[in-house]
Amino acid sequence: MANMDFLKDEIAQLKTENRFIEPAVLEDMQNAVCTINGKKVINLTSNNYLCMTAHPKVISAAVEATKKYGIGTAAVRTIIGTTSLHEELEKRLAEFKGTEASLVIQSGFTSNTAVCQSLMTSPQDVLISDELNHASIIDGGRLSKAKKLIYRHSDMQHLKEILDMPEVKQARRRLLVTDGVFSMDGDICNLPEIVKLCAPRDVMVMVDDAHASGVIGPQGRGTVAHFGLKGKVDIQIGTLSKAFAAIGGYVAGSANLKAYMQSVARPFLFSSSHPPAVVATCLAGLDVIYNEPERLKKLWDNTKFFKEELKKAGFDTGHSETPITPVMVGDSAKAKQLSAMLFEEGVFALAICFPTVPRGKERLRTIVTSGHELKDLEKAVAAFKKCGKELGLI
Ligand SMILES: *Cc1c(COP(=O)(O)O)cnc(C)c1O
Repeated sequence: MANMDFLKDEIAQLKTENRFIEPAVLEDMQNAVCTINGKKVINLTSNNYLCMTAHPKVISAAVEATKKYGIGTAAVRTIIGTTSLHEELEKRLAEFKGTEASLVIQSGFTSNTAVCQSLMTSPQDVLISDELNHASIIDGGRLSKAKKLIYRHSDMQHLKEILDMPEVKQARRRLLVTDGVFSMDGDICNLPEIVKLCAPRDVMVMVDDAHASGVIGPQGRGTVAHFGLKGKVDIQIGTLSKAFAAIGGYVAGSANLKAYMQSVARPFLFSSSHPPAVVATCLAGLDVIYNEPERLKKLWDNTKFFKEELKKAGFDTGHSETPITPVMVGDSAKAKQLSAMLFEEGVFALAICFPTVPRGKERLRTIVTSGHELKDLEKAVAAFKKCGKELGLI
């Protein structure tokens, strides 16, 4: 065995930088209130926007699919890993997103890497990316052969300058990628302006709707529907791991995009497909989204209430427009301390530190769901006020 003592040094370094992470352990069903590390807490951390984790119809769909198709596929999609459920899900996700076709891939993360890697195959290609895009888009850029050009967060003037650069004009292919809803700040990308700038310059637009699908736009259809831009965005990425509470991602776009990706996208070709239970969960989740609009309404009512109360209390909650509400702290140690103090008060909200956010932008990130009761949110706000005062944040 080799000497791996360097890991001890690395861990010590992470600890001195307040970057060492030990995951909390959930001990019962994930809900607005659940048990973590032995304590019952109000959960403000999850992407379970519509409380799909605990929906009886979704749970029974997973059980029924397991009985009919078995536990797993034991193969990649292109071998024997495509069941009729997978086919049905892709048709219905395309309908959800208003596109010709969709392709389900292992995760949202690999959907982003798959598209960037499959479309951007030459140093003559350019990938244009918002500086706050998700890590999976950054890794997608690394796996692509394209030249990367980064614009300041949602800065449309800077984007225009980049788009007018000769190397962009002369590129073989141009792809702009943006998060639909930015995962750490909760703001929505300026998609109308992006489309306006990109369309006349023959730049493909790709929007990653991980935090937007099921959450914004009519029936939670995402950023494109939110802005009424159906048919104007080339590629939409969705995740099945957040509002759908299962696991997986998808690429929605033209039939040709799907046909091409099916033959070349490396995660699709070389990693096994979703178990039938997961696929059935997502199909049932779509039914819930269409048939129970009261969930989306409750999500937004809760969002407005919680955001307003935190603001009234004097917290800096950034410029979020969605159920993701950051509570800015500006220091790793203090952010972790606030999180620990809230936990003692029965509220679970995690500190987000460098490198997930830039240094000085450390924060607690909160997410409310449709499952929170008013009394949960009132209790959470009271705890925030108490701990925030003790730490001198308000
Ligand atoms: C969570 C997230 C992903 C990754 O999705 P998974 O399905 O969890 O792999 C991709 N992009 C953004 C913007 C995200 O927030």
